Amino acid sequence: LGEVPSPIVKLASGENPLGASPKGLEGVRAGMAELMFYPDWTATRLRRKVADHVGLTPEHVVCGAGETEIIGGIMRAFAEPGGEIAMARPTFPVYHQYVQAEGRTVRFADGGEALDVGPGPMFETVSERTRVAFVTSPHNPTGRCWALEDVAELCRRIPHALVVLDEAYIHFSERPSGFAVLAEHPNLIVLRTFSKAYGLAGLRVGYGVADPRVIDLLMRAKPTWNLGPLQVLGAAAALDDDEHVARTVALVSEGRRRVEEAAASQPKLRVVDGSEANYVLLRVVDPELDSTQVFKHFLRRGLVIKDGTVSYLGLGDRHVRIDAPPPEVLPRVREAIRAL
Ligand code: PMP
Repeated sequence: LGEVPSPIVKLASGENPLGASPKGLEGVRAGMAELMFYPDWTATRLRRKVADHVGLTPEHVVCGAGETEIIGGIMRAFAEPGGEIAMARPTFPVYHQYVQAEGRTVRFADGGEALDVGPGPMFETVSERTRVAFVTSPHNPTGRCWALEDVAELCRRIPHALVVLDEAYIHFSERPSGFAVLAEHPNLIVLRTFSKAYGLAGLRVGYGVADPRVIDLLMRAKPTWNLGPLQVLGAAAALDDDEHVARTVALVSEGRRRVEEAAASQPKLRVVDGSEANYVLLRVVDPELDSTQVFKHFLRRGLVIKDGTVSYLGLGDRHVRIDAPPPEVLPRVREAIRAL
């Protein structure tokens, strides 16, 4: 690569450009006083806090080392070996990696050329054999959202299965949360993370909200002391940090808009429209180029973006994903797009 300009900036994992929630960090520091004790294995303080936040009881909440740990628990609790798990293609790769690593069967709802990760392909994919169906809204990598009525319709079509609504990026969208329809759908779980809007990806905390019967099974499947006091107190404090979330959301929506503008003026690229997340998916339309070449072009400029062909099954070699940059990084992103 030769000389790479510094600082190297990562725009590839949807991390928070403003850093960690200050309230969250205070909570982490408070948690240090408890490090000599085993934690409460049910993480009740955090579950109570989340329950207050969403207007339910702690029996409706499970917490884990990131959403990722809860996703693994869902596979084990709701799908027997060989059981079918439905998801869009392309999607967040952890879903199918877990399914395949633990001997379950993936059923992909193929988005095709249009990258349709909405209800159409999903409704065609699910069946009486489905055990779990994943809906990601906003979606990774397109950033597109499902309407809540469609999530509700999916729940009605497969009452024998669990519908997972992954809202990792919901703060960046203005849509209502699936929390609003949980009461009517006992086969729905809504997942949230502290890794994005709260800026705590390294702390590893996420939660799921669902009917207490679903939560009871997930509590049985989870590793016993999966969260320590740094995570429990850090995340509980971060949940009050509305100011950090609001500043993050404002910064991200401006950054996303600016990247979309810059990409729109580059004929070798096309914006995959409709992103309501903290990143934008770009299609490489110049047949002389592929996503890996575009990735390397950015890398030579000290900018790490996501190469679709490496990061997503079924996305092919024509897409890159780039996080909404903070204002100080924007000129470098613009220059990289212009110079392509
Ligand atoms: N869900 C989606 C859709 C994601 O894109 C990611 C992270 N890239 C996660 C979950 C992971 O969340 P966590 O850090 O809470 O494990």
